[in-house]
Amino acid sequence: MDYFLTEEQKTIKNLARRIAEERILPVRAELDEKEEFPWDIMKDLADSDMFRVFIPEEYDGLGGGCLDLCLVIEELSRVCSGVAICYAATSLGTTALLLYGTEEQKQKYLPDVASGKKLASFAVTEPTAGTDIGAIKTTAEKVSDGYLINGTKQFISNGGEAEIYTVIALTDKSKGARGASALLVEKDTPGFTFGKKENKLGIRASSTRELIFRDCLVPEENLISKEGMGFIITLKVFDHSRPGIGAQAVGIAQGALEAAVDYARQRIQFGHPVIALPAVQIKLADMATQVEAARALIYAVARSIDGGAKNFTEESAMAKVFASDVAMHVTTEAIQVFGGAGYMRDYPVEKMMRDAKITQIYEGTNEVLRETIASELRKRKARRD
Ligand SMILES: Cc1cc2nc3c(=O)[nH]c(=O)nc-3n(C[C@H](O)[C@H](O)[C@H](O)COP(=O)(O)OP(=O)(O)OC[C@H]3O[C@@H](n4cnc5c(N)ncnc54)[C@H](O)[C@@H]3O)c2cc1C
Repeated sequence: MDYFLTEEQKTIKNLARRIAEERILPVRAELDEKEEFPWDIMKDLADSDMFRVFIPEEYDGLGGGCLDLCLVIEELSRVCSGVAICYAATSLGTTALLLYGTEEQKQKYLPDVASGKKLASFAVTEPTAGTDIGAIKTTAEKVSDGYLINGTKQFISNGGEAEIYTVIALTDKSKGARGASALLVEKDTPGFTFGKKENKLGIRASSTRELIFRDCLVPEENLISKEGMGFIITLKVFDHSRPGIGAQAVGIAQGALEAAVDYARQRIQFGHPVIALPAVQIKLADMATQVEAARALIYAVARSIDGGAKNFTEESAMAKVFASDVAMHVTTEAIQVFGGAGYMRDYPVEKMMRDAKITQIYEGTNEVLRETIASELRKRKARRD
């Protein structure tokens, strides 16, 4: 379908596709097998100005919007979403700064992200606080020369690799969720170390790690916005970033669809390619329809955000839920089209299925996001609009 992208968007998309095919495709199986962080590819993305896409022009970026970012994430994920998420997690890690940071904070951190010199990361999850982010225990106690952070964050993308971390911690334990704040923490700050690196089902090229804070002192100027804004910031960050997870899902599903069509064309059974079989054709037709529907929703939500929509919590959740369910279904069906070969690591579709699963889990599980959508519907019914 022609989405009538601007010339600039087409250029960004084509460049991302070229990097994915020339640089990621030859190494994706090895990165997945070895769980190796793709530093060489991060450098290629930096050299091609891909990190500038989501940074405003005044901080050395290209000033792209949510759709531009989604195009890059989709193209990278079509080949390897493990690599794509290292890029996307950096965008996630700068969103609080972009939305709520002071001019000084932006000037200090964003140009290094734009150039790809520094990766970023966003940390809210803890061992006892996943979906229930209000249960976080990490504290940021106000002291004379800044904030003293203590606690452990779990399952953090780009953990150990990023230089800049947005960390959600309690500045006032007595207020619960209302006492949380967002703080910028640099990698080499004393008292900040990295714990367990997770051994994962999918997106294995990415790093998912524990962050450990023991009397980690950060200066007062590292507070983003005001004390007590931590949860509002977290919710807003995810509203902005969920279309990107949807784009990740669409990219994975597109990659699986293409692989399934190619295989079905060349696999001969009963004297004909299996693509001639109605059962396989119906499967492929449904897969293609679902991928396009998911893409159309992601692009529509991204355009709505770029167009200045004020409240898009519901649409953003819908985009992520729908696209991630499509990715899980389409990758599973792709394996079915491959038959036994699809189950083997010699072909990419089993990796795509493993990679797809996470899109239903992070940045809000699909269960809690369906509750979010339903809650918006309930409010709307009450208002009769
Ligand atoms: C690979 C990976 C990367 C990640 N990257 C990051 C990151 O960069 N930064 C970060 O902060 N976090 C990150 N996370 C954490 C991720 O966001 C959480 O895992 C996710 O929010 C779910 O939390 P949980 O794992 O504790 O599951 P739980 O909250 O324990 O959920 C368990 C089950 O209960 C269900 N459930 C729980 N509460 C509800 C509810 N209210 N309504 C309906 N169902 C519910 C869930 O849907 C799920 O099925 C990452 C996780 C993974 C696996």
